[in-house]
Amino acid sequence: MSDRLRIALQKKGRLADDSFALLKACGLRFAIRGGGLLARVKNMPIDLLLVRDDDIPSFVSNDAADIGIVGENVLVEEQLTGELDATIAMRLGFSRCRLCLAAPDGGTVKSKTDLSGTRIATTYPGVTRRFLSDSGIDAKLVEMKGAVELAPSIGVAESICDLVSSGATLEANGLSAFETILKSEAVLIRSSRELSAAKTELLDKLLRRIEGVIKSSETKYIMLNAPKSQVAAITNLLPGSDAPTVMPLAGNDELVAVQAVCTENVFWETLEDLKALGARAILVLPIEKMMS
Ligand code: ATP
Ligand code: MG
Repeated sequence: MSDRLRIALQKKGRLADDSFALLKACGLRFAIRGGGLLARVKNMPIDLLLVRDDDIPSFVSNDAADIGIVGENVLVEEQLTGELDATIAMRLGFSRCRLCLAAPDGGTVKSKTDLSGTRIATTYPGVTRRFLSDSGIDAKLVEMKGAVELAPSIGVAESICDLVSSGATLEANGLSAFETILKSEAVLIRSSRELSAAKTELLDKLLRRIEGVIKSSETKYIMLNAPKSQVAAITNLLPGSDAPTVMPLAGNDELVAVQAVCTENVFWETLEDLKALGARAILVLPIEKMMS
């Protein structure tokens, strides 16, 4: 293969947009057009291989791509059902979902103990089979390629094992999840093959940038005014921050300005608690880039 780092990505679907956005936030410049299989990154020696998500682990394993971005659920499924040389290099935190067992509301299957002797429809036979054998349950799997949520209503299975994010699809089909068998998020995968020195350097650089993008998306800069007497209590409330900067306010002896970098999510509840301690003029600002 050439010395351009090749990244396998989902062309279209639930992973695609966030994968493209992540790489763009890392400074890669590229355009995704219509039918092409390969997109060239203009400002770095990187090519993007645009494919179906199910093929990504095997493409990485078989040297069609150096790395890939795929749902952990697909990676684990492929690891369980085929011979795969691909493992997680970094968790990416988007496209979060759960692989769940679900059954019709008011039906005979209400929990995993009701599954023995029944049929379970799924597009994830590997992960589902592993769960059943770990739990000592003897049930039959019905493999489907899609529209698994329809299986109970057409009489193909008594329950399903499918991906859930908001739960809206289950609800719309009169189904309720009763067991989570795998939690998933997008992951960056690579094989155990050694890369050339140039690609290794580029990959390290990319991984550091991805880390920076993920960190900065969670990190916020907080600015507020606080009564001097409450600075210690307020500092305690700031999520994941080191010692804040505390500065005097011109013409005001009671209040000080407090500024801090918070490396964890700042929720509305935190702001309400800060306010209750006497903090005023609270600003939460996004951080665009960071490198520690
Ligand atoms: P492709 O055409 O590339 O094979 P697909 O239809 O198999 O796409 P998508 O529905 O685009 O796959 O989902 C891709 C991944 O997004 C899933 O494997 C999963 O990791 C993640 N995902 C997040 N939320 C959901 C959800 N509610 N339903 C399905 N997948 C989800
Ligand atoms: Mg797919």
